[in-house]
Amino acid sequence: MQYYSLQQQSLNVDFKTAAITGQAPDKGLYFPAEIPQLSAAAIQKFKTVSKGELAFEVMRPYVGGTIDDATLLQICTETINFNFPLVPITDNIWSLELFHGPTLAFKDVGARFMSRCLGYFSKGTNATTTVLVATSGDTGGAVANGFLGVEGVNVIILYPKGKVSPIQELQLTTCGQNITALEVEGTFDDCQAIVKEAFMDADLNKKYTLTSANSINVARWLPQQLYYFFAWQQWVANYGDDVPMNIVVPSGNFGNICAGMMAKASGLPLGHFIAACNANDVVTRYLATEKYEVRQSVATVSNAMDVGNPSNFVRIMEIMQSNFSALTNALTSYQVSDTDTKATIARVYKTFNYILDPHGAVAFIAAEKYLATLNHPPKLGLDATKNNEVHRAIILETAHPVKFPEVVEEAIGEQLQIPASVKFLLDKEKVSIPLAPSYKAFKAWMMQ
Ligand SMILES: *Cc1c(COP(=O)(O)O)cnc(C)c1O
Repeated sequence: MQYYSLQQQSLNVDFKTAAITGQAPDKGLYFPAEIPQLSAAAIQKFKTVSKGELAFEVMRPYVGGTIDDATLLQICTETINFNFPLVPITDNIWSLELFHGPTLAFKDVGARFMSRCLGYFSKGTNATTTVLVATSGDTGGAVANGFLGVEGVNVIILYPKGKVSPIQELQLTTCGQNITALEVEGTFDDCQAIVKEAFMDADLNKKYTLTSANSINVARWLPQQLYYFFAWQQWVANYGDDVPMNIVVPSGNFGNICAGMMAKASGLPLGHFIAACNANDVVTRYLATEKYEVRQSVATVSNAMDVGNPSNFVRIMEIMQSNFSALTNALTSYQVSDTDTKATIARVYKTFNYILDPHGAVAFIAAEKYLATLNHPPKLGLDATKNNEVHRAIILETAHPVKFPEVVEEAIGEQLQIPASVKFLLDKEKVSIPLAPSYKAFKAWMMQ
């Protein structure tokens, strides 16, 4: 498998090079030269195979021989070594819980896969790869945990002081070993600006082999397809093949939803995609107006989606071959306010006894809005007999509610139980290096 740059100004590369470099030299995102097509027989088989085998079969064509089969199977099995349960919330909305990984975030899957690939590629070489990552909370923890102890890889995480939740901060700052946390006295945008500048800095690139661990990296982006396969396995076990699985994805950089659309493009029989957005709604507005207007990101209670210019949207356009009507047929998007998000956490807890995190709550509202358009056709001209058909959707629950305790506890009026898997963090000591929010300060620290 070859990967080309969406800017079209760089040479094609294999998976290994794409994973090590992150981005093409022309600053474009890498995209697979062909989307592997699954046969009907393969899909049939997927209904019953183990998660590890399924992950191996899905990832194998993308890795394209740059990792031997035995190692890849092991990487895949380790990557998905926890549960992805599909849990009913209401009669027609289900939650795919993606927060059972080590850092309680869906980003664990991508981070675990990518770290193991980079570890494999660095074996037997003296080269050290330095992963630079800016985080608003979840990415950093997943990356720190995924890369901890991986030989040949150092990780530097930049996070905004005082702007991540206490558990998130402990996940970033208590690893030690090859993980360093820089506590930036500024905002997430400052952190991201520093990382962006670092990738373009000749002095730094001479001294370090730098790569990024966010979803622009194919090794982190592509394994996110696996959730959709795992969800579909559970869905057909409940409903058979006939009921379409519509999928609502809380979206920020649009890496997760784009991976789902890839899975569908390769033949997995999925229903409609719905992108749930907070006030950062550039895609929602684009689908309504065909005008793509980037704005400065604004802060919300679902802060992992506070992205003004989603980096993976260009990949969605590539899947859709830049055809706007194909896009609007495949994808719907809703924008959800903070007020509605908080009210929904309260309502869903009271009515259905299910605790949503703020991102899941944004998705839940979008699911209700979408289903309302199908189950109760609003206006004349629609086939009334369709009213009898019950449509269903799943939402992706991308983080555990305990990572957003202030918002969730206020909404449900109760204290959250801290899961045993993160309790141990509370006894650990935070270690971080304070940094002024300027590139100059960062570079000085890197060069010494
Ligand atoms: C990263 C993240 C998202 C957004 O995912 P994208 O792939 O960037 O669209 C949603 N929810 C949570 C909890 C996240 O951490």
